[in-house]
Amino acid sequence: MIIMLKRQADERQVNNLTSWLKSMGFDIHFSQGASHTIMGLIGDTSRVDIDVIKSLGIVENVQRIQEPYKSANRKFHEEDSIVEVGAGLKIGGGHFQVIAGPCSVESEEQIVLVAKAVKAAGAGLLRGGAFKPRTSPYAFQGLHEEGIRLLLEAKRQSGLPIVTEIMDAHHLKYFEDVDVIQVGARNMQNFELLKELGQLRKPILLKRGLANTIQEWLMSAEYIMAGGNEQVILCERGIRTYETATRNTLDLSAVPVLHKLTHLPVIVDPSHATGIASLVKPMAVAGAACGADGLMIEVHNDPTHARSDGAQSLTPEAFQDVMNAVNAVRPFACR
Ligand code: PEP
Ligand code: MN
Repeated sequence: MIIMLKRQADERQVNNLTSWLKSMGFDIHFSQGASHTIMGLIGDTSRVDIDVIKSLGIVENVQRIQEPYKSANRKFHEEDSIVEVGAGLKIGGGHFQVIAGPCSVESEEQIVLVAKAVKAAGAGLLRGGAFKPRTSPYAFQGLHEEGIRLLLEAKRQSGLPIVTEIMDAHHLKYFEDVDVIQVGARNMQNFELLKELGQLRKPILLKRGLANTIQEWLMSAEYIMAGGNEQVILCERGIRTYETATRNTLDLSAVPVLHKLTHLPVIVDPSHATGIASLVKPMAVAGAACGADGLMIEVHNDPTHARSDGAQSLTPEAFQDVMNAVNAVRPFACR
């Protein structure tokens, strides 16, 4: 971190600032320019509140050299992280996985049928919402713990590990046998929930918030990792922009940007990003082409009668077609 002092900074105040920073464990390197003095802080500045320093009367400007996230930062962990799910399934570091399944778990027949179909098409994990974050309180809220029980039954019958969303840490007791816990867009900055998930030792799929920057997203990953849970997978699911033609705007450039900034695996969800089934294939292919470590795709046996997100859900046949296209483009992915 670099602190530029004002031209005629009061010496006593500069000394106060210096001893305060030293008391926090920093070494300080002073450089005297023609008009300004510059202080270079040497040490881990991730705990420093940059705004407090900026607000000081003697300070002209402050610049971070090092990002405020540490555990998620590629600078301190050059190799790609590989997240292991259950026995042997890997995501990241060249291991590409597709997570597929319905938006909501609706019945045993539905989830078992979809599980078997997506497995046959090449999916590595089964998704299904049991606790649903719906915009309307009158919309289907999910089958709750019964939904998780049905997912576990589908896992038993298909062999696919399961991914499902948590909305409240009080529900953790239902998630003991869940392989990957999803944090949805609406909870990306639910910091108390993130801290609880940091205490676990199981993979967390962290979706990008509806209108969050990449840095805010990485700080949320940092919350989980700071608790000791390093198994975080990031999921780009589109952000809110002024565009209304699609449900969200898929920020695909986030994928290569994240691969530069972090060692964590990054997957793309073209279903929630577009909201339109016919757009899932082109954006899934694009996600694979730009180097994503996997995809999350909503698949339903009867999309028109789905209890949530039917408009963006693929039939098993359409999903197979997407998988074929994704597999064809993967050898050419930019990574
Ligand atoms: C979901 O995956 O079903 C979901 C609700 O996604 P998001 O949090 O990205 O809206
Ligand atoms: Mn959905």
